[in-house]
Parts: sequence; C-alpha cells; structure tokens
Amino acid sequence: MIAQVIINSNVKQLNKEFDYNIPERLKNKVHIGSRILIPFGRNKKQEGFVIAIKNNSEFKVKDILDVEDEEYITKERINLAEWMARRYFCNVSDCIKLMLPPGTTSRIVANRIKERTMKFANIIDKNIEEKEVRTDKQKRVLKFLRENGETLISDLECLTDSSLAVIKNLYNKGYIKIEEKQVERNPFINKKIQRDKKLELNIEQKHAYNYICTAIVNKKYEEFLLFGVTGSGKTEIYLQVIEKVLNSDKTSIMLVPEISLTPQTVNRFIARFGAENIAVLHSKLSMGERFDQWNRIKCGKAKIVIGARSALFAPIDKLGLIIIDEEHDSSYKSEMSPRYHAKEVSRKIAKENNIPLILGSATPELGSYYRAEKKEICLLELKNRANRGNLPEVEIVDLKKELANGNRSMISVRLYEEIRKNLEKRQQTILFLNRRGYSTFVICRDCGYTAKCKNCNISMTYHSNNILKCHYCGYEMQAMSKCPNCDSKNIKYYGTGTQKLEEQIKKIFPQATTIRMDIDTVSKKNSHEEILEKFKNDNIDILIGTQMVVKGHHFPNVTLVGVVSADGSLNLGDYRATERTFQILTQVAGRAGRDKLPGKVIIQTYEPENYCIELAKKQNYIEFYNTEIALRKQLKYPPFCDIIIIGFSGTNEENVIKTSKHVHNYLKEKVIGENMPILLYSAIPAPIDKIKNKYRWRILIKCKLDDKIISLVNSALKISYKLSQNIRTIADINPSNMM
Ligand code: ADP
Ligand code: ZN
Ligand code: ZN
Repeated sequence: MIAQVIINSNVKQLNKEFDYNIPERLKNKVHIGSRILIPFGRNKKQEGFVIAIKNNSEFKVKDILDVEDEEYITKERINLAEWMARRYFCNVSDCIKLMLPPGTTSRIVANRIKERTMKFANIIDKNIEEKEVRTDKQKRVLKFLRENGETLISDLECLTDSSLAVIKNLYNKGYIKIEEKQVERNPFINKKIQRDKKLELNIEQKHAYNYICTAIVNKKYEEFLLFGVTGSGKTEIYLQVIEKVLNSDKTSIMLVPEISLTPQTVNRFIARFGAENIAVLHSKLSMGERFDQWNRIKCGKAKIVIGARSALFAPIDKLGLIIIDEEHDSSYKSEMSPRYHAKEVSRKIAKENNIPLILGSATPELGSYYRAEKKEICLLELKNRANRGNLPEVEIVDLKKELANGNRSMISVRLYEEIRKNLEKRQQTILFLNRRGYSTFVICRDCGYTAKCKNCNISMTYHSNNILKCHYCGYEMQAMSKCPNCDSKNIKYYGTGTQKLEEQIKKIFPQATTIRMDIDTVSKKNSHEEILEKFKNDNIDILIGTQMVVKGHHFPNVTLVGVVSADGSLNLGDYRATERTFQILTQVAGRAGRDKLPGKVIIQTYEPENYCIELAKKQNYIEFYNTEIALRKQLKYPPFCDIIIIGFSGTNEENVIKTSKHVHNYLKEKVIGENMPILLYSAIPAPIDKIKNKYRWRILIKCKLDDKIISLVNSALKISYKLSQNIRTIADINPSNMM
C-alpha cells in the first residue's frame, strides 16, 4: 500500500503530495491522519501527515520510517486544511498546524509539551496490619489516608506534618501505593462561581431564539446576523441556544475577540453551564494550559469551547453550533500565514456539518449587513436594551472652535466641566484616545524634516524620557533638540498621545486618581485584565486609554466617556477607516451608563460635520450603513468586490521590483488572454515601502473571488517562487491592514 503524504514544512516548493510505501511492519499503524517519519532528500528525516492511501504509485517510492501518532488528525480536518491552503495561498501543512495540539507541532524540533502529572498516595488495603509501623508520623499518615483516601503527596506531607522520607518508608514497606496522575492546568476553573438560572427572554429575544432553534432542530446550515446594541441581550441568547445544543448532546464553539476574552465573559458561561463543560483557548494561556484545554476538548469533557479565532480548530466532536461575537472585529482576520478569516472558515465548517452560524454585533461589518439585506443570511434584530437601560446622551465638541477660542489643551471646556462634575459626584470617567505614545511625530517646522526609522520607511514615535521608537521594528533613538537636516531648533513634537493626556489631566485635576491603558502599559500576561480590575475595584477616577478600553468590561460606576480625539482613525488611507471609526465610537459610547446611573458621552473632533461622527452621535447604524455602502458601491470596494494583494519583499530593492513586475506581466497576459473580469493594478511600492530593511512592493487586484481567480493567483505565486528564492511573496484576500 502507498501513503500520500504532506511534508510538515513551510517551504513553498514542498507544498505538494509525496508518495511513500507502507512497509509490512507498519501496515496496521498507518491511516489517513497519521503523523509519520519519512526519509527525505539525502539522509534527512522529515515529518509528514498521511492524507490518503492508495494501491500503487507511478513513482519509485521509499518506505515510511516510523509512525509517531496513529490517529493524529481526522479526515475532515485534512479536507479543511486543503481547502484553506488553496483559498489562502499557503502550504497545507501550515493549515494542519493550526489543528494540532499546542506545543506539539513538530516532534523532531520541539521539546513536546506533556500532560502535567503529580504524585498521589493512597493506602493499599484499609485492613492491613500495622505491625511494623512504629513512628507517630507513619501512623498519622496511614490514619489520614485511611480516612481521606487518595491525597496529593505534597498535601499529605503538610497535612500530617510528616516528610517525604516517611511516606517513602511506608511505600517501601508496601502499605501505600504512589501513582502519577494527570492534572489539569486550568486558569479559569479554580474559582468557585455561583450557578445562575436562565432569564425569561423578552419578545425580541424570543423571536431570535426561535429562529435559531428551528435551524438547530432541522439540522441545517443557516447563517444569522444578530444585530443589537450593547446590552440588548445578545449574550443571553447565545447562552440559551448553546443550552439547546447541549441538550441534544452536541457541542458549541463561541469565538470572541481576543481582547474581550476576559474572566467576566467566561464566568457568565461558567455560571450557566459549570466549569466542567467549558474549555477556554486564547494566546495568553501558557503552552501547558492550552495543551490541557485542548485535551479536555479532545476527550469530550468540554462541550463548549470559548476562544479567539484559532479556537475554530479545536478538536471538537459532534459540533452543533458556531457563534462569532463582535463579528465586525478585525482580529478575526489572521495577518500571518494562513491568512484566513475566521468568518469564512466558520461558514465552511457550518455548511459541512449542517449547523447554524450566528454572527453577533451592535455594528455589523458592512459586508455582513449587506448580505442580510440581500437575504443571503437571516437578520435578527434586537432594538432595545434588555435591562431597560437607556443609551447615553452624546455631545459633539468642535475642536476647531476650541482652538479659535485659544484653548490649546487636549481637553475642551465642555469636557473639562463634565469631568469636574463627575469627580465631585465620585463617579468614574473613561477618556479614550485613538493613538498611543506621547507625541506621534517629530517635525522640523523650518524644513519639514521628520524623524524616520533607519530600517523602516515610517516615522518614529516620541515616548517619554526623550526616546523615539519605531513601532514596526523596535529601533530606538534619542530625541533630537535640533534638526539634523537644517540645524534649526524649531522642532515640534506633533500629535498627542495617552502619556501626554495623562500628564495634562494630572495637571488640571491634581486631586484625581488616574490609570492608563495602552500597548506600553499592557504587556505582561493578564495586565490588560489587571488594569481594568484595578480601575473598577479601587474606584479610580479616570481611565485613560486607546482602543483597548473599548471592549469587554462592564463598569457600573462609569457615567462619562470622553473621546479626546475621534479623528485618529479617519483618513487613514484604508477604505475601512470610516467604518472602523464608527464602530469604535459606537462601542465607546456603549461604555457609559450601562447600569442604573445615566451616562454621558463627549466626542471631541476636528471634523464635526463628518457623517461618521454625526451618525455615531445619533447611534444610527442603519443610516451610517446606507451612506457608506453607497460610497463603496461607487468606488468599487468590498463588499462589491474582493481585494487581493500580492506582496513582494526582500533586501535587494532591484530584485523586488523586477520580480513584482514580472509577476504583473504574467497576470496581465492571463487576464487579457482569458478575458477575466478583474481589475489588475500595476506593481507599485506598498504604503510603507520598507520594513526591517526589506523593500516592499505589491500588486493589487479587485475582483469577485472565484475558483478561477484562486488558481490564477496560486500560479502567479509559483512563478514568483521560481523566479527568485530571496524574495518573499505572499497573497492576502481582503487584508485587514492595507499598509
Ligand atoms: P449584549 O450581549 O447584547 O451586550 P447581554 O446579554 O449582556 O447583552 O445583556 C445585557 C444585560 O441585560 C445583562 O445584565 C443581562 O443579564 C440583562 N438581560 C439580558 N436578557 C435579559 C432578559 N430577558 N431579562 C432581563 N434581563 C436581561
Ligand atoms: Zn529642519
Ligand atoms: Zn523600524
């Protein structure tokens, strides 16, 4: 018999199937999905995955050397990996890697993560005679085990005030046995959380619930867009449909944005279903913790998986439902190979398993709402807040007028007034800024010089302690006091940031306590969580932060949200900039007044007339959608087309240009020759044309993605790989970052 094998390697040339003979001695051990060792090249061993078995090969084949894992991955998963590899232009093995237990990706290279084991002692026979037991300590140990049964050795030592020597002694005499057992590293499940009961759904919720249940009962694929403002009761619906799925002995996956995956979120699920039913997967877990979660899913203990996008690939069996919460979030698109979108992969999995897929959001991605409008997916709307809370009052402050009145600080008169009142009332405030760092750019006002990174063609960012930092490669330099270009001392640190804002606030309100959250303060494990907990529990007056403050948490005492600068993400040279700004503003606004206290939001902007800001003030998604979708249609942007970027990068600029132009010519010939309905743009430098000393060029394609175009791009990539080994070529569909 012959096995068709995929080599575990990200070398592009190895992205194909190789035939190997299954020797007689391994006959019963090699199956589809086995992980095996094979000879490759000269005296080299490689790891591979068996993807098919057939009777003979047209090639002269070598023997498989050994089997590492008989049943490593299922046939369905291999099919999914093959589909993804083609669709996202990468190696099949890159996709298979997503589906393997954490820390076990390659046995040849890795020191594998193992189950964590601990030693337990137990008495062998309760009725044995204790003739030879003389010491008190030994007697105490035996008595303890007789009464309490199996005990962790370290606990036993401490509870009986004995020592390891005493325990060993009893073991040697044959009174007790010692066993190593697997224990779970579980960061969430140590806590005792009180169970809660399900709530009586309101009419809107019931309507949505019934629709989804019909799809569950009928065992068919259907996609739902659950569109409802924050607090409208989406999560309660998730909980109840998951229960429905659980009752029919099936499993559920719920994806949430990495940053919203807080204990608060998870605890709500634990309170409803118990910790034993839930597995949590995200990148902040240690490799060991993730490995254990993975195992609990694999052996069927955990029936509900909550996690960031890669949780989609957990080894869950009998899948009955997939939920994507905050479906508009850009973290669902992977920016590394495989460059997949979790929504597309979920759709594929849901279709194959005949199960419903729920997309939930208060500000759906334009493409999702568009599909709902065209009745491709089913729209379920929640128009009211479930706990009868009111949406906060939103006010816009024109920063141009503020400047004209001579106020140069980051805080307008209106915002100052509201912060002051809030401090008096001992209520909390969140100040949100769309940028980080102290000041963004350093500019010479005489010659226009800006400090740029020597490795990357982007501006350096000013941090405290007179340091300039490159956010792409980490390069640091001392801030200059005179212009290196024209010697002028007229240097301005242009732009504003969270550090500077915190300093200003401390000056204006010396009595206020503040806490800051941005990428600089959030780096340690759990630190994001710690800052939010501290803000809440210590009742700190003002939380100052970037994007991160927007998500996940519920702060009953926050009654004021100030958007210090709303414009940071407008005009970003990305067709989604306006959509993102609208989403962010709507989300920040949702932070205020979620409980009994009424909330107020103040948005400071230089563009008060921008429709995005106006409609965010009105919290009117539909009107925003209508305006923006008309623009997208006119300008031919998604969802009216797909954008594919073919990117080239390398240290030799000439080579990068040559390769990208060559590939462009190839594409052009094909597109014209086969009359393909594609807009192909010529090769040009990327918006950031140098990162970490690598020059970057790209080709942009607008099209309606189909099989023929996927083939075309895959063949273009092959040509590029052949042409130059030193150029990295990638292709990305609808990238979430256009830079
Ligand atoms: P979302 O996920 O849309 O933000 P949640 O499900 O978190 O909304 O609900 C917001 C608040 O309303 C929560 O405190 C929740 O307990 C409460 N809630 C949700 N549904 C109901 C209901 N049917 N009856 C009473 N309270 C509800
Ligand atoms: Zn200058
Ligand atoms: Zn750099």
